[in-house]
Amino acid sequence: MTIFQKIIAREIPADIVYEDDEVLAFRDIQPQAPVHVLIIPKKPVVNVALADDADQALLGRLMLVARDLAVQLGIADKGYRVVTNIGAHGGQSVYHLHLHLLGGRAMMWPPG
Ligand code: AMP
Repeated sequence: MTIFQKIIAREIPADIVYEDDEVLAFRDIQPQAPVHVLIIPKKPVVNVALADDADQALLGRLMLVARDLAVQLGIADKGYRVVTNIGAHGGQSVYHLHLHLLGGRAMMWPPG
């Protein structure tokens, strides 16, 4: 079981900013920007590479939650970044699909 599944199950605490039947969003414990939220499906999908075609609506839902949270958290006007890391070279450290929603400062490109 990943640490994110433990957060979903309320076995460990998190600073939750959004929840519905399918999606949970909470603040990253090591924020890389003034706003850094993780948006995850409650279903234990490992990452985009291992998502099923049947997860199409769920993947879209995650993006729309990011859109709405960006407004709610006050970063939408100036812009923000949504990123998902996949596997070792992608920098994925928790193997439960998550979108990073980052904002509140200008982002660099290319990323490291
Ligand atoms: P990634 O490296 O893309 O897999 O992102 C995993 C993210 O999860 C990192 O940014 C971590 O800081 C974050 N993280 C790990 N454990 C926790 C936790 N208990 N609560 C909130 N965020 C966490």
